[in-house]
Amino acid sequence: MYKTIEDEVLKKSAPAALKAEFLQHEFERLHKFCVLIYIASIAVWIVYDLILSFLGSQAFTWRSLVFIGAYAIILVMLLFTRDVRHFQKLNLLFIFIIALGMRLLIEGVPGEEQAAWLLLAAATTLFTASVLPLSRGSYFAAQLVTWIFLNPFYNTGIETHELKGVMALSYSAFICALTLYSFITLRKAKLYNFIMSKLLLDQAYLDTLTEIPNRRSFMARADKQLHALPREHDHYLAMIDIDNFKKVNDVYGHDIGDEVLKRIAADIKAVMHRFEYARLGGEEFAIYLAGIRREDAEALAGELCRTVREQTTQHPVTISIGLARVLDNDTLNQALVKADEALYESKHTGKDRYTFHREV
Ligand code: GH3
Ligand code: MG
Ligand code: MG
Repeated sequence: MYKTIEDEVLKKSAPAALKAEFLQHEFERLHKFCVLIYIASIAVWIVYDLILSFLGSQAFTWRSLVFIGAYAIILVMLLFTRDVRHFQKLNLLFIFIIALGMRLLIEGVPGEEQAAWLLLAAATTLFTASVLPLSRGSYFAAQLVTWIFLNPFYNTGIETHELKGVMALSYSAFICALTLYSFITLRKAKLYNFIMSKLLLDQAYLDTLTEIPNRRSFMARADKQLHALPREHDHYLAMIDIDNFKKVNDVYGHDIGDEVLKRIAADIKAVMHRFEYARLGGEEFAIYLAGIRREDAEALAGELCRTVREQTTQHPVTISIGLARVLDNDTLNQALVKADEALYESKHTGKDRYTFHREV
């Protein structure tokens, strides 16, 4: 089973919308981690600054303070960033400033040592960026910005044909390839994991025939709404059962019965899209009407009965609905029992109608 789903996932390439959803999900999940990475990067920059300022005999100047101020502003912006697309731009700005800051620091050390420091700074920046939730384009841009500012051949007096130059070139190529490889494989593994989890969750929480939420999904979501406080208006629970459905199966066959189930699910979805609804099993459906007045619950139940009744189709059916007000101390199961009792009333007073539980 797992293998079949896995093969199915591996065969398809993820559509752009799914990739965007993955990136946003990843950013929300890793928001605190991103903040931590930024704080660590700033700390590393300050350590570099202190080492190069004192061991490199340069003083810790106001320029360092300007950079630290800029990092602090970006860090605060990150704290308020919620959209991953904004994060991509903010991160590029961060890399731009940090790489520029590094370059200026390294300019102050003796010429023959500059290339080694630049390579160390580039490696630190690129490895750090490779674990952030970045799009591919954004990571490539980060590589570009890093190498522009931390290019070990620019203004360092090293030539590519010298022994030192060959070492710097080989090490640059190695860092570039390794960080790109680790970024791409990590991102691919995470994307694959996201798609698999989403697929399995969809299958666990959706009814395969009607493609609306199933009982498991309903119990979790309705229970959450039932416990949500404060309640602005009343909550109602509706149970729905198709009338004389056995006859549909007997007369037209099971396949037509299935088509009717799909049609009813679509009607429920159309009329009740603002609420939690589900196919509980067989030909029974439920709706949790949260924050609603009695007359609105009544109007919606009436509209649903009418929509089903008035469908122009070769296989017309009707439905019966039972409605119960969810009391403050009711559990979901107690409310379901009451709605079921009201449904029983609808069935016994002629079907194709809604009935409120006597307690309302
Ligand atoms: P009532 O008006 O009293 O509800 O009568 P009814 O004939 O609808 O009786 P009941 O609710 O007990 O009928 C349930 C029927 O639903 C029995 C079963 O054949 C049918 N059913 C349950 N699940 C499915 C399904 O997935 N597909 C199809 N085609 N039929 C199903
Ligand atoms: Mg039934
Ligand atoms: Mg029925």
